[in-house]
Amino acid sequence: MKIKNVEVFPLEFPLEYPSQDATGVWDNWSTVIVKVTAEDGTAGYGEVGPLHGGGLPAVTGLIESRLKRLVIGEDCFQREKLFEKMVGRGTSAYALGPVGAAVSAAAGIDIALWDLAGKLLDTPVYNLLGGLVHEKIPAYASGFFGIKGRALTAEECGEEARQYRDQGFRGVKMKIGFGYSQDMANLEAVRKALGPDLGIMVDANQCFDYPDLMGHIDGYKAFDLTFIEEPLRINDLYNMANLAVNAGVPIAAGENYYGKYQFRDVLEHHAVNIIQPDIIHAGGITETKKIAAMAMSYDIPLCPHIHASVAVSAAVQMLGSCSGSLAAEYITSGGSYDLRCRLCPGSYMVEDGYVPVPDAPGLGIEVDERVFEEYYPKWM
Ligand SMILES: [Mg+2]
Repeated sequence: MKIKNVEVFPLEFPLEYPSQDATGVWDNWSTVIVKVTAEDGTAGYGEVGPLHGGGLPAVTGLIESRLKRLVIGEDCFQREKLFEKMVGRGTSAYALGPVGAAVSAAAGIDIALWDLAGKLLDTPVYNLLGGLVHEKIPAYASGFFGIKGRALTAEECGEEARQYRDQGFRGVKMKIGFGYSQDMANLEAVRKALGPDLGIMVDANQCFDYPDLMGHIDGYKAFDLTFIEEPLRINDLYNMANLAVNAGVPIAAGENYYGKYQFRDVLEHHAVNIIQPDIIHAGGITETKKIAAMAMSYDIPLCPHIHASVAVSAAVQMLGSCSGSLAAEYITSGGSYDLRCRLCPGSYMVEDGYVPVPDAPGLGIEVDERVFEEYYPKWM
């Protein structure tokens, strides 16, 4: 079956007020939905995002001007070959680099091709990945974003944690890196709200240096953390490996690495205890399944970064088919949840702390294309 067309739909979802973590601030939630249509009219969907803070023209331009012509007319089942054609030797990687936007743009097409293959074969993507291992995935609530130019207060953190507890989540992930005393107050409020049995993960978004964090590590460890995410600059594999040995808390990272070679280096350096590929940044399903296989050979569990709309379902299919799966990230704030509920109603809904793996063909979602026009950026 040949690929007849590739279309891109940039979407910009405005936020009520700017959102932030320890190292970034954004005032809109943007993403690009990719639609790949086969010659029989069957369509698969992928996504390149999040692009909070900009980048829509870069991604749409990459696909429209470069990647699209590489795949139209090709066999839609040849995902491995087409990924190489987009990102392999002598291709986009030559002029645009082997990591970053070029990989994410190719991932958008790749995810759509997996959705398309599942639909054409009338089977869920997990059956193309080796079959179902987990019918449902434990979900942890991820949020605690700063608002209006400031970190959340301890009281606000406690309130958000109580909401997640009452919704049935098994654990929460909160932002840290807003100053040691603020972090301690926030953690204290969250632990108090959750009680001793639910998990607390923290995400530093790369804000610490090794000596700073080691100087305060006992304070953070006192809250019985499940893991610390991106504690240092993600390219400082040397010190991440030191942390993994000396911190006494599991180290997690992955959302800012691209492609199997970067992930191989992370694993080879023993820089993480838990691996968190973002299925878009990592290079789509084709590349992430290789990353998951590598991680399993190190007994490193898979706990992907999940913060998108259509591509969320790709991560769920991956988690459902991987024996090394740990948990699914579940974000209900910051725009991505609202946009996803509009685009793919009923998809990726948490039930009693678990996300079921859908068994409909492809990614198992229905995309409402009427939403594309509503959120098309007026300035593009
Ligand atoms: Mg993170």
